[in-house]
Amino acid sequence: MLALQGAFRAHRLVIEGLGAPVREVRTAAALDDVDALIIPGGESTTMSQLLDSSGLRAPLAARLADGMAVLGTCAGAILLASDIRDGREDQASFQSIDVTVRRNAYGRQLASFEADLEVADGAELPAAIHAVFIRAPRIERVGADVRVLAALGSEPVAVASGRAWATTFHPELSDDTRFHRAWLETVAGGAPMLG
Ligand code: GLN
Repeated sequence: MLALQGAFRAHRLVIEGLGAPVREVRTAAALDDVDALIIPGGESTTMSQLLDSSGLRAPLAARLADGMAVLGTCAGAILLASDIRDGREDQASFQSIDVTVRRNAYGRQLASFEADLEVADGAELPAAIHAVFIRAPRIERVGADVRVLAALGSEPVAVASGRAWATTFHPELSDDTRFHRAWLETVAGGAPMLG
């Protein structure tokens, strides 16, 4: 669990409930000890700054380039994206998933909402997902090597590229642990040591 900022505790509870050990990652040394990583929701601009001040950016970029299993949710999805729109100038991302995301794209009226998703045929996900969105980004472009796992109407909200998954919603905030279970089983190899 990347624990620099944001909603990592809720993810931790879900993952521990599923029986996988969790370590909170705030340093490069802690990152060395984990097999897979969740980058939580929160504030992507702040997380980006903290990645620099903690010295985590370069080692984390190397692990991601090496194919470490990762799940980025909301701000975490922004950090994994190849292109950010409406980002701050000093905000950098890891470019693990070839998508363009626009920050805070649902505007003031829809700042937070819940919705039932359409899960793509063949996606390794439960058939029904009720999703919580909080100042969510929108995925505006999906690269050729990126699979859409779930959508809201015509818009992708969960995507996968190799062992990297990203969601614009918060799977840790519904009572349903099946999304995390699917990610653990599909990309993280069951019950690894999770950061
Ligand atoms: N709007 C936030 C950002 O740009 C993301 C919101 C969230 O993670 N819930 O980082």
